Amino acid sequence: MISKVKKIGVLTSGGDSPGMNAAIRSVVRACAYYKIECVGVYRGYEGMIEGDFKELNARSVNNIINKGGTILKAARSEEFRTKRGRQEAYENLKNKGIDAFVVIGGDGSFTGAEIFNKEFDFPVIGIPGTIDNDIFGTNFTLGYDTALNTAVEAIDKIRDTASSHNRLFFVEVMGRDVGHIALNVGVGAGAEEILIPEENLGLDRLLESLKKSRKSGKTSSIVVVAEGDKTGDNVFELAKYIEENMPKYEVRVSVLGHMQRGGAPSCFDRVLASRMGVKAVEALLDRKSNFMVGIHDNKITLTSLDLAIKGKSKINAELIKVSDIMTT
Ligand code: ATP
Repeated sequence: MISKVKKIGVLTSGGDSPGMNAAIRSVVRACAYYKIECVGVYRGYEGMIEGDFKELNARSVNNIINKGGTILKAARSEEFRTKRGRQEAYENLKNKGIDAFVVIGGDGSFTGAEIFNKEFDFPVIGIPGTIDNDIFGTNFTLGYDTALNTAVEAIDKIRDTASSHNRLFFVEVMGRDVGHIALNVGVGAGAEEILIPEENLGLDRLLESLKKSRKSGKTSSIVVVAEGDKTGDNVFELAKYIEENMPKYEVRVSVLGHMQRGGAPSCFDRVLASRMGVKAVEALLDRKSNFMVGIHDNKITLTSLDLAIKGKSKINAELIKVSDIMTT
């Protein structure tokens, strides 16, 4: 049983994602609502080790709900992987009177939090902040919806030039291990083919499919490729292969890259962040620890950090079928 929490630290860790600011705001405002103190920890675990803290009140988070990135900065910390680093972090938290923390980040950040919790019996709650939606225990991670919208908007623009010049575009989107972004963006942008890490289409089948669509009268095409796709070594190699085998097609590559991480969060991400932040604070006040806040069927839930880290988020098989039907 943990004692009553009086001062909560909040940090953003790992890569940034849209909606992190909205989640910070929510944690800070929920602390103010429940009359407990809140301290911002800058630069993730790195700032925890260096004691880079700042008291936050309800007014400190004015006008950030609509901002991308994170006002607390996000960082990766090699030192936090060591016992000595974590010991220093613990001393700093104790000296500052912080008796629990909320970490907004991905599974690496949760792993750090879980280890810290075990070592020092320190209450922690995680909020999933990553655009990849690759965390078990939640239907949506913070930033995913915004990233989808950013990528679809970019592909709509690429489509204009593709159709004006009868070109075939390979568009690479983020997703090293999972194809959630590619699959949803591909369906949403009306892509000809969608290549995801979960399935290896094979170069021959890709070629065959593109030839078939050419024969059916299509003069331009968009192929959405997840970063981690295994059909080719990378998106440039795929493009080269198709260009060599379909010499009449003008092939181009566009790598959307970090633009997918930036920008103002969508309304969905802002609302999700607000709900998750409140739940994180309420969980700590209920003396719960070592959980990740998630959303299932539009209900805010708690999943053990252990499960969130070890579980695998699955690709939506129904959506794969839909994408196949749409490219008929
Ligand atoms: P993203 O999804 O953007 O990659 P992430 O939270 O998974 O976010 P990581 O770089 O994997 O990003 O982890 C963030 C930080 O969490 C690391 O820099 C490190 O400080 C801490 N961390 C990760 N794994 C461990 C571990 N095994 N032990 C202690 N700390 C860890």
